[in-house]
Amino acid sequence: MATKEKTTEENTQLKDIISHAKEYGFVFPSSEIYDGLQAVYDYGQMGVELKNNIKQLWWKCMTQLNENVVGLDAAIFMHPLTWKASGHIDSFNDPMIDNKDSKKRYRADVLIEEKAAALENEGRVEESGALLAEMGKLLEAEDLEGVRELIVRENIKCPISGTTNWTEVRQFNLMFSTQVGSVAEDSSTIYLRPETAQGIFVNFLNVQKTGRMKVPFGIAQIGKAFRNEIVARQFIFRMREFEQMELQFFVRPGTEMEWYEKWKAARKLWHQAIGIPAENLRYHDHEKLAHYANAAVDIEYKFPFGFKEVEGIHSRTDFDLTQHQELSRKKMQYFDNDLNEAGKPYGNYIPYVIETSAGADRLFLMALCNAYQEEEITEGEATKTRTFLKLHPALSPVKAAILPLTKKDGLPEKATEIFNSLKYDFNMIYEERDSIGKRYTRQDLIGTPFCIAVDHQTLEDNTVTVRNRDSREQVRMPIAELRTYIDNAVSFRSILEKLA
Ligand code: ATP
Repeated sequence: MATKEKTTEENTQLKDIISHAKEYGFVFPSSEIYDGLQAVYDYGQMGVELKNNIKQLWWKCMTQLNENVVGLDAAIFMHPLTWKASGHIDSFNDPMIDNKDSKKRYRADVLIEEKAAALENEGRVEESGALLAEMGKLLEAEDLEGVRELIVRENIKCPISGTTNWTEVRQFNLMFSTQVGSVAEDSSTIYLRPETAQGIFVNFLNVQKTGRMKVPFGIAQIGKAFRNEIVARQFIFRMREFEQMELQFFVRPGTEMEWYEKWKAARKLWHQAIGIPAENLRYHDHEKLAHYANAAVDIEYKFPFGFKEVEGIHSRTDFDLTQHQELSRKKMQYFDNDLNEAGKPYGNYIPYVIETSAGADRLFLMALCNAYQEEEITEGEATKTRTFLKLHPALSPVKAAILPLTKKDGLPEKATEIFNSLKYDFNMIYEERDSIGKRYTRQDLIGTPFCIAVDHQTLEDNTVTVRNRDSREQVRMPIAELRTYIDNAVSFRSILEKLA
């Protein structure tokens, strides 16, 4: 019973956030006039600003704070052999199962994981661990019949039909394919990239040579990725089209664990620096390593639906570059002329790789969940609930709203003058409709850190009141001080300095 109540509460919170995101122009369902497309979303006028801020901050952190990291923007389409080399054609699969009564499709491993989570909630921790371990072994051995038997034995029911009338378990490749070429006979199958990483690997030597990069160095990239997810749920957490922010960091073999630890710590600090409390973040080591990895950890955030991955840090060894060397028959070696302990150059080798891979959309959802606040406030006699987005000001879509107290007496002209003098520095809103209270409320709902009210005193002494979103306190200050005041709060600098 306790679990059920908790689930309902968590769902309500997520539902509130989803409707808030839609109502205030953050996220819309894709092609909504046609009833939407499952697991695809569009970012609205506020959403695009928030997402761009997240991406730009990540980009600056990677490329400006690290002298040895440069950027790249590779194409979404890649030569099909790329995906043969990376292992995606052969093994980028999820095990799926259908319920014959509801005709609903599920990921077999997720059904078992949910059962394990339920056992854990009931305090049956050992049983839960044993179940996960058994599933891990069966998946490792690709024993799909065994996975089905486990689902039946555990009496896992379809949440829709409530029955255990399951089909067999089958592997389902998550890559989207399409045809390139205008004439059917000449066309060939290509894929929409399921990760941005491979665009970096195939350009490794281009960047290293043209940029005269010395190992250790990294290549950062932000771009779209596509996965035909079997079960798409939880809003923008799991989408079929999403955006990744990835760093591939090339290191000398044998030094990879040191760099793995360094990036693992650096990335968690980044999340904290954008305002996520440390207690809502945790590491989760992978029990089962991917075929290419010798260490892997997820950074998880406590979403309303539980701790879930927002970023993965993987030690990918030399797997990808070696595979590309084999399939392309082009050398992927690097010559390291630094001297080893014996005083000889380290010489030729294929570098090892540490990857940090974050989903821009998941970070967006994390920022939104973390920012969404409801608080009881008293105004005169009345108590009401104030909803506001407590976003880090550097991430807020709009930095300040300029609000003339009335539409007359020259106040709009003065307010416009202030707006025009600051618009080159900050994304701002000018608004003169409705009462000042209603205008404050609208800015709270989109997370604007400052509301600047222009009143009659402004005309006399060139001062304005600045209202703080979080404390609702107002301070009076000269117009001439506004730029520095806003900049101190909203600039990326304060975050970057913490991370340097
Ligand atoms: P999951 O286990 O949740 O499917 P994953 O381990 O497959 O994720 P990775 O392949 O490590 O994910 O991808 C790196 C990052 O890309 C993830 O941490 C996540 O932030 C993001 N990501 C992956 N799949 C999706 C998706 N379908 N929708 C949105 N973001 C995604």
